Amino acid sequence: MINKPVIVIGGGIAGLTAASLLAHEGIDVTLLESHNQLGGCAGTFRRGSYVFDVGATQVAGLEKGGIHERLFRHLGVGLPDAELLDPCCLVDLGDGLPPINVWYDPQKWQEERLQQFPGSELFWSLCSALHKSNWAFAQRDPVVPIASYWDLRETIKALEIANLPSIFFSKLSVADLLRICSCHTDLRLRQFLDLQLKLYSQEPCNRTAALYGATVLQIAQAPHGLWHLHGSMQMLSEHLKRSLLKNGARLLLNHRVVGLEKKFDNQSWKISIIGPKNTCLEINSPDIVCSLTPQSLISLLHSDMGEIRNYLRKLRMLPKPSGAIVFYGALSRLFLDSSYPPHIQLSSKKLGSIFISVSRDGDGRAPLGVATLIVSIFTKTQDWCHLDEVDYQKKKQLFLHSIIDELENWFGIETEHWLHQELATPRSFQKWIGRPDGIVGGLGQHPSVFGPFGLSSRTPIGGLWLCGDSIYPGEGTAGVTNSALMACRQLMANRGLGLNLEL
Ligand SMILES: Cc1cc2nc3c(=O)[nH]c(=O)nc-3n(C[C@H](O)[C@H](O)[C@H](O)COP(=O)(O)OP(=O)(O)OC[C@H]3O[C@@H](n4cnc5c(N)ncnc54)[C@H](O)[C@@H]3O)c2cc1C
Repeated sequence: MINKPVIVIGGGIAGLTAASLLAHEGIDVTLLESHNQLGGCAGTFRRGSYVFDVGATQVAGLEKGGIHERLFRHLGVGLPDAELLDPCCLVDLGDGLPPINVWYDPQKWQEERLQQFPGSELFWSLCSALHKSNWAFAQRDPVVPIASYWDLRETIKALEIANLPSIFFSKLSVADLLRICSCHTDLRLRQFLDLQLKLYSQEPCNRTAALYGATVLQIAQAPHGLWHLHGSMQMLSEHLKRSLLKNGARLLLNHRVVGLEKKFDNQSWKISIIGPKNTCLEINSPDIVCSLTPQSLISLLHSDMGEIRNYLRKLRMLPKPSGAIVFYGALSRLFLDSSYPPHIQLSSKKLGSIFISVSRDGDGRAPLGVATLIVSIFTKTQDWCHLDEVDYQKKKQLFLHSIIDELENWFGIETEHWLHQELATPRSFQKWIGRPDGIVGGLGQHPSVFGPFGLSSRTPIGGLWLCGDSIYPGEGTAGVTNSALMACRQLMANRGLGLNLEL
């Protein structure tokens, strides 16, 4: 059983994690990545003397017992060098009142909340109680959504009596929690929650599941925390790659999967690939772990089999995730206040949530004395994908200027201070990392589709396992690592083998 090969598709953090875990168990693994580098949304690109993180700029789960820490410990590769963020973010609601510091120290964060949102402590205490129960459950590696008897057994093993009260909150939203605690009339608190939740759940508080929201609202505080990687975000991929190669896995860059077909014996898959110099290849494998968006499967899966047709119907009905517009800029540190934390979130009347990541001096992203700024906003992908080239370029310029205007106003920068400026749109994300229409971030965490009601890593088609940010959305690289662990545990159990990470 152990010698049967596995093909992992996609070399972002989800695919790299799956491939590393399976190779570590002695499985014969091949990882196929269409780009010439690993990392996907958590990769980097270079422009002259600057290194820009493509998408992800901060990391959760590096603390002791956090999912990245557990994984790296299990694989026997050290943790990447990182700085704990405190405060992790400065949130300016644009209402003329002092911005909100999201502190790491729970005591300091409580004092900040009391000052910024008087009367909201009951709401935060309820979130804290739900979070503690959720977190303890999540740490015991349940398998949700439940799609088999084995998944059910693993989930029951992770449940404790203390988790049961959470069930009453499973269909509520964060806005319902505000109402329960009589905080729904605090419009400033609501605006803050809408902004912060959008970053994780892709939804505002009236559309974010209460159990999910309660957890992500406390991800930045001890004992968890958010981290800034030294060097660049590419360090995560580099560590995983090291483990992968050490354990004898094959890594094929510039190999794009263009078709997946279940063979007539129903025992294995035929994977069609376009390799370097447009060579066409075919590989057969009994198991595939696919880390691409489930929407990608719509064009990859070919079959007349009923189970595949039904599954594709389900995938076509998934709600459409957001797209992102990302500005990459550089300027001298002389024009930036050194007291700002590395992440700032602004509420803009024109652009909505603006999330800004500023590099640290000497962190490997820019020469000393120069900072890179990465700024992301949300957009609807359908606003971009059908434009002709002229309209596309016009719209892109419009967004570039709007973002620059907002930054210049907020930081007090003059136009001539910029050393570098460029913009990525959903079209860029489609081109770089093959995400259909440039969708990013996975499914929004509405009460009807979060966690137990989401898309399972176990598909109804034998030998096809999914991971990535549609399986465990909203927690970025930490979430997709969890998704890969879940898919690998299911695959191994299917072969009669176990796979467990120590706490
Ligand atoms: C703007 C932005 C900001 C973000 N900020 C953060 C943050 O601060 N912190 C955080 O933790 N997360 C953040 N995220 C989310 C995080 O980056 C992603 O959730 C995570 O990196 C997704 O990993 P993945 O492996 O599921 O998918 P991807 O990163 O998309 O990886 C998929 C890989 O598959 C490859 N591929 C695609 N098609 C094919 C094919 N046909 N054949 C072979 N290979 C293929 C792609 O090239 C890619 O390398 C952000 C995302 C974006 C877009």
